[in-house]
Amino acid sequence: MPAGMGVVLHDGAAFMVLEERTGGWIVTTPCRTEIFLDEGTLIDRVDVVLDPGHGGPETGSVGPNGIVERDLNLGVAHLTRLALEDLGYSVAMTRERDLHMGIGQRAVIANALSPSAFVSIHHNGGAVRRSSDPGTETYHQVESEASRRLAGLLYEDVHAALSAFDVGWVDTVHQGTSARIRYSGLDVYGILRLTPDLNSAIVEAAYLSNAVEADLLADVEVLQVEADAIARAIDRFVTSDDPGSGFKRAFVDEATTGTGTGWNCDDSGYGRPVSMASGYTEQEYDDLVAMAARAGHSPESLQRFGVYALDFFHALGGRVPLDPLPVAAIPVVSGGSVPIDVTLSWSPADQVVLTRVADAYGLSPAEVQKVGAVLMVFLIGIGG
Ligand SMILES: [Zn+2]
Repeated sequence: MPAGMGVVLHDGAAFMVLEERTGGWIVTTPCRTEIFLDEGTLIDRVDVVLDPGHGGPETGSVGPNGIVERDLNLGVAHLTRLALEDLGYSVAMTRERDLHMGIGQRAVIANALSPSAFVSIHHNGGAVRRSSDPGTETYHQVESEASRRLAGLLYEDVHAALSAFDVGWVDTVHQGTSARIRYSGLDVYGILRLTPDLNSAIVEAAYLSNAVEADLLADVEVLQVEADAIARAIDRFVTSDDPGSGFKRAFVDEATTGTGTGWNCDDSGYGRPVSMASGYTEQEYDDLVAMAARAGHSPESLQRFGVYALDFFHALGGRVPLDPLPVAAIPVVSGGSVPIDVTLSWSPADQVVLTRVADAYGLSPAEVQKVGAVLMVFLIGIGG
């Protein structure tokens, strides 16, 4: 379980904080890569976390009219957030724009914010059975009475709100409030299974695959009705003992759609690369170039290898005592005595290692870069 250090909101996404570092945070991206992030707003707790399902290449259901569930979920989540804020709740969203995010990352974001309620917003696909009322489905954590009540209230309010519209609804036997489990008894949905300490629920308001429902969901006033219903249910969950309704037996269905894995997730847009120069004397530079040539690499990449080598020694922990370097051992990286700059670009993921090593050795990142290079020159020199 994450330590609950909060999340950094930046560029329409929530990044889970793993560590605070000088000038920023080590976070996990929506693709669950660790990067160094030096911008954004840190929040450590909210009342409610909303998760707009799917995003990016994971579209979810697609309506015959071209509406994509990914976008519909996001729109309803934004409206729900506003409605909750009007009621006085603090709210965070796992994503505030269209982006690719795996289920695991959505769960760690929610866990890090310790909300009173965590609700994943979806719209359904696939049903063909005609129904006189909306095929609203909500899902809860099989082991949690509170999650069950939250899902029951979501069902009750969303189903009642949509019932005001007279269209040719569809449903399945799962209309209502239920838990969907594996043979092992664990929840099928990662959103529920990976947040055991939270009150989590999934709401599937209507069937986007049904043409008349898709047309209904193209009307922003209908989305407002749905969002108000979700907000009302969350408010009742927090402020009342209302039991909710629509309860059905838990059912075993292990089949998953394969969405939400974050597979092929592209991180390249998150964080920013940092260019760093280290200054070398002519003698140091000649040694660096010579050893880089011997190793078949550029002087720039030798600096990077060196930092990764230092990180490796750091990871050995107690076996190699590591203290901040004495001042005399800290290399000079700039100034008149070091005329030759070697500049290296560090990706946001590389910066995780760079800042970790800098903190461990009590050095600036530029100094660590040079210490790494000096170490590599030494190691390659021994290798002869
Ligand atoms: Zn969905």
